[in-house]
Amino acid sequence: MWQTRCLEEYEEYEIVLNDFCQLADLDISVFEKFASESKPERIEIDDLIPRGDFDEFWKISDQILFGGEVVATFMRDELEIGEIGFEWVGSHDLKRFYREDGLILISLNESKEERSQKVLTALKELRTRRRRRFRVCKYCKKKTPPEHGGSTCHNCMSIHEGIVF
Ligand SMILES: [Zn+2]
Repeated sequence: MWQTRCLEEYEEYEIVLNDFCQLADLDISVFEKFASESKPERIEIDDLIPRGDFDEFWKISDQILFGGEVVATFMRDELEIGEIGFEWVGSHDLKRFYREDGLILISLNESKEERSQKVLTALKELRTRRRRRFRVCKYCKKKTPPEHGGSTCHNCMSIHEGIVF
């Protein structure tokens, strides 16, 4: 599939994924399904710095965010898969941050096939972990991430509980 199309047929997320896989020497076909569900986008390198390691951010070569939920970072000597979280700065500004718990490191010493599979497994694991934090809103029954209220979504808090945001 990847080899038989011309460049104009690729969607933006596929180009982002392709660039990342080339750089990190990963087998792109392994990520095809995952990436179609959780479309990757490139993010600013200094936006989500792994492990709070501000001294060594220069080691990061590329960083992509899948579906707004999980981050893959290619560094000089390893790949790191992390989950993002969100926190409110003031009452209107939702800021994303790099969660330091549950990071998964993948060595570059393994074969391309092994490494690609491990990266995929890690991405899935952290996406599941993120989604387990969601709660069903008791009013509208929608699955709601914690930063939007969890078991009572912000929208329903306004409607049913009179809370003004
Ligand atoms: Zn609701």
